[in-house]
Amino acid sequence: MAQVIDGKAISAQIKEELKEKVAKLKAEGKEISLAVIQVGNDPASSVYVNNKKKACEFIGIRSLAYELEESISEKELVELIEQLNEKEDVHGILVQLPLPAHIDEDKIIKTISPLKDVDGFHPQSVGALCIGQKGFVSCTPAGIIQLLKRSGIEIAGKECVVIGRSNIVGKPMGILMLRENATVTIAHSKTKNLKEVCKRADILIAAVGKPKMITGEYVKEGAVVIDVGIHRNENNKLCGDVDYEDVYPHCSAITPVPGGVGPMTIAMLMNNCVESVQ
Ligand code: NDP
Repeated sequence: MAQVIDGKAISAQIKEELKEKVAKLKAEGKEISLAVIQVGNDPASSVYVNNKKKACEFIGIRSLAYELEESISEKELVELIEQLNEKEDVHGILVQLPLPAHIDEDKIIKTISPLKDVDGFHPQSVGALCIGQKGFVSCTPAGIIQLLKRSGIEIAGKECVVIGRSNIVGKPMGILMLRENATVTIAHSKTKNLKEVCKRADILIAAVGKPKMITGEYVKEGAVVIDVGIHRNENNKLCGDVDYEDVYPHCSAITPVPGGVGPMTIAMLMNNCVESVQ
């Protein structure tokens, strides 16, 4: 029977640990504040933003909500971020993505001070990750490392295949696994013989953005399978990039969707907020 990695339980454990740390910081007179900026009122973004606010409340972090009109100009948004960069009592700045088409996301990400970049998307944060220096790490990949470690899964020396090379998941995931001494392959849409490549993996991480694409044919017997994808199927139920039922009999451990990687992203965001003040 494969081990089902319980992201909900692990994220709850991390949030409890953070709550304790925040209480200690408060006792030392240090209060953490996170500025959460949402442009427009896309319902999916509103759900994510609300979940982040709730997590802040639970842990004891003050969240400052900036709910901006969809029509806000890029210049106005840049000015707001620059003001928040200067404020000593704001430790983290988060801009909920995606942004409306008239705003350049890259420019906005670069405007956030790397010292407050709790999402870990700033080029300086990504560069620091690449060369092994201190900096904020993108939350979803950081959460996956925690899932593996806290589930007792050895990473060092293992063959790891990451499917997907996005800047927020695939690439930082590959670098983090390398930092943990795995032997890493990053596959993408131009990879030839994807099934054979995936079958080499002791740890297979699917961040491909295609519902249930990864079937048992992609999985080596006994592999650990991490499913980053989040989709709604035809019955409006959540599913991942991995065909769970088909893969489960082949693997030694697997993350479900929901309840696997998803809850870890917010837990690691909270972790970055706590680090921002430390
Ligand atoms: P992107 O769409 O940015 O990247 C998808 C990657 O998959 C690309 O690198 C693409 O390759 C590759 N790809 C697409 N099709 C194939 C294919 N047929 N074969 C091999 N590779 C392919 O997605 P993200 O990285 O942002 O997200 C991935 C998934 O994770 C999504 O389902 C997303 O919803 C989910 N997600 C979940 C989070 C969570 O908290 N659980 C957080 C963030 C994302 P190429 O570069 O060549 O185009």
